[in-house]
Amino acid sequence: MILHIDMDAFFASIEQAINPHLLDKPLIIGSRGSKMHTVVCAASYQAKALGIHSGMPSRQAFTICPNLEFVAADQAKYIWTSEQIFELLKGYNLPLNYASIDEFQLDVSGYKNPVSLGKEVKEKIYANFNITASVGIAKNWLLAKLASKLNKPDGLTLINEGNFEAVLRQAPLDRLCGMGGKTGQVFMSQGLKTCWDLYLKMPEFFNTFASAQTQELQEALLSVDPERSRRVNENLGKFSETPGSSQEKPKSISHSYTLPRPEISPQVIKAWIRLLSEMVGERLRQQNLTAKTVHLWLNGPEIGGFGAQKTAKNATNDSYEIYSRCLKILAKTAFKRPRIRALGVTASQLIFQDSPLLLVEEKRREALIKAFDRINSRFGESTIYPAQVGTVLLK
Ligand SMILES: [Mg+2]
Repeated sequence: MILHIDMDAFFASIEQAINPHLLDKPLIIGSRGSKMHTVVCAASYQAKALGIHSGMPSRQAFTICPNLEFVAADQAKYIWTSEQIFELLKGYNLPLNYASIDEFQLDVSGYKNPVSLGKEVKEKIYANFNITASVGIAKNWLLAKLASKLNKPDGLTLINEGNFEAVLRQAPLDRLCGMGGKTGQVFMSQGLKTCWDLYLKMPEFFNTFASAQTQELQEALLSVDPERSRRVNENLGKFSETPGSSQEKPKSISHSYTLPRPEISPQVIKAWIRLLSEMVGERLRQQNLTAKTVHLWLNGPEIGGFGAQKTAKNATNDSYEIYSRCLKILAKTAFKRPRIRALGVTASQLIFQDSPLLLVEEKRREALIKAFDRINSRFGESTIYPAQVGTVLLK
């Protein structure tokens, strides 16, 4: 059984939680600071109720609601909160997956009462962060993720054998992971409206596709041509194992993000890879691990799902090195300014760092990196981050 936790309107809820003035108000988070010249990257439920959604130009959102509250995105704050939630969930000592910045999965197989656990998780998150989460529980991640979407916000939904048909009949097809885009449109043009319709046509979808771990890899599998599917599948096998308890060494550490809209600027795409590399590196260092293999995953309308990895002799936990290896992977592709909708960085082939790094230059870097982490954990958010990320993403 999987317990899928999906934070409700995550970015907007965080802003509302820390600024009571914004509470219960229609609010948008802009991907850039200039109110009228940006894109909505998150909307509060009050804004969503008016028809405002992410991906919409902010100008259009203000036409719908002139009194809209506006906050420029502060990715560092969201990432920090996300990592704190991850830390809280680690406390359960169950296999845990960081599915995206606002989604987490606990493997609750063998757990007697997953519903009461779900309630507890929701309460703990609310008590600690003053924001709500929706929880879905089902036999695999695909159904658990679907369940988490069905009673948002602040929902808790269990799909079991008893209600399987009834729930799937009520669930519109596009709620199912991977069915939001082209694949879903194809099925819908064939007359499939609900998840139950898909189940009748392709029951295996709900088992086969659900066996892998991350949502993005699933989407990659669905949206790409067969040759790419095969390759992604091969890569999947390499790091789809369920991580062990938090005391054990994880198989891989990964961060991914879905952008509010397809992005074409190589500068912005690289800044995202940089930010994700920072996050992966920070988690490696927290756990005293280094990684030999770096995997870059991209998804976009032209390229579908792309994943490739690079294994080096020297294991690293230096974020900049991880980023550089990602760029090398990127350079080997034949892509010419593809639009990118989602991306992920994974470190695998992990080894415990037993002895300090030897070279002076590496030592200097190590000291710098440690200082970076100390400052970030003391001030509770990424106060310091690479200038590239700061300038491109946050302003
Ligand atoms: Mg969410």
